[in-house]
Amino acid sequence: MTPSDRKAERSVNRPAGQAFAGQRIAVVGLGKAGLPAALRLREWGADVTAWDDKEAARDEAARAGLHVADPAVDFRFDALLLSPGIPHERPRAHAAATAARQAGTPILVDVEFLFRAVRAAGSGARFAGITGTNGKSTTTALLGHILARAGRPVAVGGNLGTAALSMPILPDDGAYVLEMSSYMLERIDRLRFNVAVMLNLTPDHLDRHGDMTGYAAAKARIFARQAGDDLAVLGDDDEWTRSVTPPAHTMRISGAHPCPGGAWFDGAALRDDAGIILDMREAPNLTGAHNAQNAAAAAVMALALGVPRAVLADAIRSYPGLPHRHELVGTIGGVRFINDSKATNADSTARALESHARVVWIAGGTGKEGGIEPLAPLFDRIAHAFLIGRDGPAFAATLAAHQVPHTLLTTLEEALPAAAAVAVAGDVVLLSPAAASWDQFTGFDQRGDRFRALVRAMEHT
Ligand code: ADP
Repeated sequence: MTPSDRKAERSVNRPAGQAFAGQRIAVVGLGKAGLPAALRLREWGADVTAWDDKEAARDEAARAGLHVADPAVDFRFDALLLSPGIPHERPRAHAAATAARQAGTPILVDVEFLFRAVRAAGSGARFAGITGTNGKSTTTALLGHILARAGRPVAVGGNLGTAALSMPILPDDGAYVLEMSSYMLERIDRLRFNVAVMLNLTPDHLDRHGDMTGYAAAKARIFARQAGDDLAVLGDDDEWTRSVTPPAHTMRISGAHPCPGGAWFDGAALRDDAGIILDMREAPNLTGAHNAQNAAAAAVMALALGVPRAVLADAIRSYPGLPHRHELVGTIGGVRFINDSKATNADSTARALESHARVVWIAGGTGKEGGIEPLAPLFDRIAHAFLIGRDGPAFAATLAAHQVPHTLLTTLEEALPAAAAVAVAGDVVLLSPAAASWDQFTGFDQRGDRFRALVRAMEHT
């Protein structure tokens, strides 16, 4: 196809227009994604009723001109768009969800409406879905970056970043790269992913899904509508993911062993059947075997979406990384300061500790079950640990039992200068808390932003 063909093709796309004309849609949960979703659905012709349990959110919706009413009172709708954070079953169903289920009305997620609107507009833009317990955001951002480097119109977001109904209708050569949580996957219906990946599965969110089988079943829905020449990509590094059987053509990816037909990391390079894609030492923002697995996933998906192989190496090399995920925020006197605030459990912190020989470690917060005991095999990398937050004392007790040098403090403001004072050139000062942040911060991002600001302030003194 020539560029002028493409232009002609783009111009035949109709706007999403009245994709939902005549449909009564209840939108419950009017947060960062919910409010724009309600407005967008109305713009696309739907008869929207908006609701949130919080009065302030209802007031904001009313000010935006939306019809605000509790849909559970007299439930007569064609669909319920329920914010993914609100449960429809476990641990306790929201009243609107119960009413929808009694009425036999589908409970959907915003990406489902995006998909319908894109197809109603006559756009053949492709959909890429990314799920797994860990690595979703990295793989999503990386695939988006590769497509953009290949010159493709792309919208990146979903569970993280731009909400689905804040995305534009893309032309036929465009691609939506969507991070999908298990909560979102429970609420898709017709959405068909041209390419989809399940990276890995470890126990998480079991309060919502009941047990591991329920969680795995929710995640496997990412493949449910695939057919024809769609591509399913499966992580090959854990038992749960290995045992999933997608209906479409399947490729496997690994950070640990060869996967003929797919892509894998051989300890130095990312490769597939055609040879080396890239020596991963050239990709500074994708360190570690786990990130090589993410790169393998992004590479096979990009190829399936028509990205020329020649583009891959440069695109992966230039991936800028995401904030709070092993983010280098400064180097002072030969000491690197790394913000890995997103590591809210021991498993994630293990990935960070594995990447360095000698670490001055800042950890603590609201710990998870098992605390930091699973990190014991990596304790010999810790030159000194500084512990903060609610579970600092419990973490200190674990370190004491393993004779790891440590100091129990309270805040990040105390821990950073103390860590900088003991670090010598070549060390890494690593904030990788192995704990949630709720005891002292509004979220992992605020904790990471604080760390970055403190490091920047030190750079200027
Ligand atoms: P998510 O969006 O799924 O939470 P991120 O890309 O934000 O994933 O990564 C979160 C943490 O998970 C990272 O800090 C890293 O320690 C770990 N991680 C990333 N990719 C993988 C992977 N493929 N396998 C295992 N752990 C991973």
